[in-house]
Amino acid sequence: MIRKNFFFFLLFGLLSVSCGDDSEPAVSLSQDNFANISYEENTLKVSIQTSLEWTATSLVNWCRVSQSKGTGDAVLELSLEPNIDTERSGVIKIWTKEQIREINIRQEGIPDGQEFTYRLPVIFHVLYSDAEDRNQYIDQGRLLKVLDRVNTYYDGITRYNGGDKGVDMNLEFVPAETDETGNALLTPGVEYVKMDAMPLDCEAFMGDSRYVKLLWDPNRYINVMLYNFAEVDGGGSVILGISHLPLSTTGTTYLEGLPATQYAYLTKENLSYPKCLSINSLYVYEETGSDGKYNGFDVNVTLAHELGHYLGLHHAFDEDENSGLSTDCIDSDYCEDTPSYNRIAYMMNLRALLQEAAQQGTSLSMAEAVKRENCKTGQIFSSYNLMDYEISYADRLTNDQRNRIRHVLTYSPLTPGPKKGKANTRSVIEGKLDLPMVIVK
Ligand SMILES: [Zn+2]
Repeated sequence: MIRKNFFFFLLFGLLSVSCGDDSEPAVSLSQDNFANISYEENTLKVSIQTSLEWTATSLVNWCRVSQSKGTGDAVLELSLEPNIDTERSGVIKIWTKEQIREINIRQEGIPDGQEFTYRLPVIFHVLYSDAEDRNQYIDQGRLLKVLDRVNTYYDGITRYNGGDKGVDMNLEFVPAETDETGNALLTPGVEYVKMDAMPLDCEAFMGDSRYVKLLWDPNRYINVMLYNFAEVDGGGSVILGISHLPLSTTGTTYLEGLPATQYAYLTKENLSYPKCLSINSLYVYEETGSDGKYNGFDVNVTLAHELGHYLGLHHAFDEDENSGLSTDCIDSDYCEDTPSYNRIAYMMNLRALLQEAAQQGTSLSMAEAVKRENCKTGQIFSSYNLMDYEISYADRLTNDQRNRIRHVLTYSPLTPGPKKGKANTRSVIEGKLDLPMVIVK
């Protein structure tokens, strides 16, 4: 059939859809209705038979089509995200000049009482200026080993105190397998980026809009930047890692202590800072040895700690800047099961103990150095929390911390994994937004 003009085509199109057509359909689909698809991640296949040009559009964001247009026969793959919400329905439209066909999908929600296991793709962006420098150009094997170790902490496998069972976060950090466009990575989990200058000022880096371009979609990846941190003024202390706190949605899903946004879904294009965590690659080989000898620069602890921040955790100690040595005792991490303590008082006491030991020609034991005084109850406790500072066994997280992390994964924009409620609707907002930014070390 030769089309004379656009109007004729439109009219014909309408007629064939609304009145039906007894002749051969312009497009036939191997299946156009999928019911009771499980809540888990799924790929559905539909064979398209046609001699025409076609386009495929998903009307819902939780289902992506493998190909948005084509000519003639094809196999279309529909990728469904896991559904951690209630049952949902979606439509995929296949358009040709002569006909519109619909594919209907109904995906079940996660069963009541079942908790989703998050698999969070991590991409290490190794920033370097000298590829010969092993403290800049970090080997993939080393980074994957660190990630493995971090997973043991999040699985609740503890190292100290007879290895008692810690809290399992029910999540796994996995090396990213593909880049943003779906190409398989030669070095899964790692990409190398040549920079003009090294070291970098980590605090300036975290707020610098020029580095947004280094990010991979934060809705799909956790971005970990590795680079040599410039020395802090005076050089007296060292920063091992630094992170942004996640954003929290407002309203009933707001999580205390996080910067808030009215937007339940955001994209990289909305960011004016590189939402990520940064690790100081000068210390990437440091760790507590198999002999258990304490190493305060342990990179496994640093990464686990910064990931904790990235997923919504604050420090375990009293972070009220005004409290100083006063008797205020603030639960600034919003977790009741992490005892608060006055860090300044702890530091002074530690210094005194170290001096005393030096005078007596002995050394301070780990068991003594990890002791703190609960500023609420006055009880003495030993520090085991990954979100603590200074000398700590630093090998576990608590139940309340788990609840915060899971809340962030369920609702926070710009974190990977399936979302619930409004966060699932994903209407895209164009352009840069003035989003709040909180950086923690
Ligand atoms: Zn911290």
